[in-house]
Amino acid sequence: MPKFHKILTVWYQQNKRELPWRAKKDPYLVWVSEIILQQTRVDQGTAYFLRFIEQFPDVKTLAEAQENEVLKVWQGLGYYSRARNMHVAALQIMNEFNGLFPDTIINIEKLKGIGSYTAAAIASIAFDLPHAAIDGNVYRVLSRVFGIETAIDSTIGKREFRDLADELLDRQNPGLFNEALMEFGALQCTPQNPDCKKCPFQDQCIAFAHNIIGELPFKSKKTKVKNRFFNYMFIRQEEYFYLEKREENDIWRNLYQFPLIESAKTLTIEELLANEQFKSTFNGLEITIESISHEIIHVLTHQKLHVRFIEIFSAKPDVNLPWIKVHPKEVNDFPVPKLIDNFLLAKA
Ligand code: SF4
Repeated sequence: MPKFHKILTVWYQQNKRELPWRAKKDPYLVWVSEIILQQTRVDQGTAYFLRFIEQFPDVKTLAEAQENEVLKVWQGLGYYSRARNMHVAALQIMNEFNGLFPDTIINIEKLKGIGSYTAAAIASIAFDLPHAAIDGNVYRVLSRVFGIETAIDSTIGKREFRDLADELLDRQNPGLFNEALMEFGALQCTPQNPDCKKCPFQDQCIAFAHNIIGELPFKSKKTKVKNRFFNYMFIRQEEYFYLEKREENDIWRNLYQFPLIESAKTLTIEELLANEQFKSTFNGLEITIESISHEIIHVLTHQKLHVRFIEIFSAKPDVNLPWIKVHPKEVNDFPVPKLIDNFLLAKA
């Protein structure tokens, strides 16, 4: 029977997508693409990749940028800590590695925000180093072809998959092997409805033979989702409105938002008016509540946000409230969560 990597390579040559970061073996491009693709599909991620590279074509331009500019280009992708980490890592490369992308796995792993998967992907694709990169696609393919029922989120499972991936790795072409395996998971052995009929591994795939495809890969823990209730105050004074910066160690750190009252549940209008934060903010000020939006559900990885926008008109343009007063023309200077961006677009 042909070796695993030979079957995989033939499949890859016939099926791979032409993607902009595959055009050359540039560690910076591989890094940017890997981080972007950790949180989005290739079709959406490609547009972000091209925009990112246009604005920050190399490590130096990324290092020299303001964090705000990086977050603005990232806006809408979510997981903003990844963009902040990339900015820090670019500074590390400039300061600690003389501006040259590190070319050993040990040094690549020293960069902020780069874990073992991303380091292996960069090391193998850009520098041909023999490291297996194991992402969600790889776990899925290996668990099915080899019928592995060990939980992929357990220590023992991680070790088992790492050993197997190392054993299968094509040491002559590690980057090609890693890209091929990830692409195979993304296109052929997909989470739902894998294309088993046309699969070159069908005759050796244990999950196919035992009809357990839907059960693999196996995960032991279910992610707990936390419900949060956000009441955003869109306060207008003439044509201006207010933004505040999120500075706590929480979602969307360093992004901007409308002044927020977070509550333990959905508030009625009476409860909102009686809320201590609301009362102290607008104490004695002449305001009109113009509208309250319906509840918008915004789902993040571990959180479900129940969001409402409360449109408030303040009749005293000379009274400055304790946030950043913004003219609509200046809004592009502020990176904001997608939710706020959508609201502003609807208002424009
Ligand atoms: S036969 Fe189906 S489940 Fe098995 S590797 Fe191929 S696509 Fe995946």
